Amino acid sequence: MAHYRDLLAQIDALLRPTLGEGRVADYIPELAKVAPDQFGMAIATPDGEVETVGQAATPFSVQSISKLFALVLAIQTEGDDLWARVGREPSGAPFNALVQLDAEKGHPRNPFINAGALVVSDVLCSHYAVPENAVAQFLSRLDGRRLIHFDERVARSERNHCGRNAAMLHLMQSYGNIRNPVDQVLGAYCRQCAIEMTCEELARAVTFLACGGRDPRTGEQILPAAHAKRVNALMLTCGTYDAAGDFAFRIGLPVKSGVGGGIVAVMPNRCGVCVWSPALDRAGNSQAGARALELLTTHTGWTIF
Ligand code: GLN
Repeated sequence: MAHYRDLLAQIDALLRPTLGEGRVADYIPELAKVAPDQFGMAIATPDGEVETVGQAATPFSVQSISKLFALVLAIQTEGDDLWARVGREPSGAPFNALVQLDAEKGHPRNPFINAGALVVSDVLCSHYAVPENAVAQFLSRLDGRRLIHFDERVARSERNHCGRNAAMLHLMQSYGNIRNPVDQVLGAYCRQCAIEMTCEELARAVTFLACGGRDPRTGEQILPAAHAKRVNALMLTCGTYDAAGDFAFRIGLPVKSGVGGGIVAVMPNRCGVCVWSPALDRAGNSQAGARALELLTTHTGWTIF
């Protein structure tokens, strides 16, 4: 772990002068209030150790990182039937694009763009009594330390500015790909995006994906290894929207980002990683976060390639 500590300190020192470059998300007004020059990073190994640097213990809005955990729950309940309703191809379009969804008759390209995540939320609405808490409860099980909480102001802010997501849901409903009331699905989706977690917690929460789907803390098989492999593949090809090619090129790991500025990454058989810095690039991914992961894989040579 000392090796990780030195590495994280070096990355922090290199990135400090650049923090704040980019723009915080402002289409959800509450997210626009977050200071852009914050930075934290954590590496969690299967033996339970976590090495951190910077503001790794500061909670932030997980936003689309929640799509990863929602997908795992949907695979647990639906298995391969899920893929009849959502695809597995990169979209090559922004995360909230509408035109492609209509052209492809309400069948989202993948579960990590908003349309796909809304179908996943619809699946959770069909299976869970309190669907808006399903992802948070799963995360607190994975974390094993505390009750996950929501940033209620972000949840309200998003619910009041969710026109595009509502439009996608109505569109997909018109194609028969949404089974529950639009309002209920929207409520569950907005709430999962408003979950707050720290880099330390998220790094721990993704370690099962570095361990063939088995939670190294409890020994529980969260997903069969074959499904965990597929989730990692989707993270690589679709986890950062229309920048996924560039991320694979620069970083070479399965990753999932959110507009709160967080990015989780999986180093198979080694560790879970989370980095957070709120200023985003044009595709909606953390600018310093991407750079930090690039430095990490360049220095260690640990990529999947
Ligand atoms: N809650 C955000 C939305 O629906 C999530 C987007 C993101 O993190 N890319 O627009």
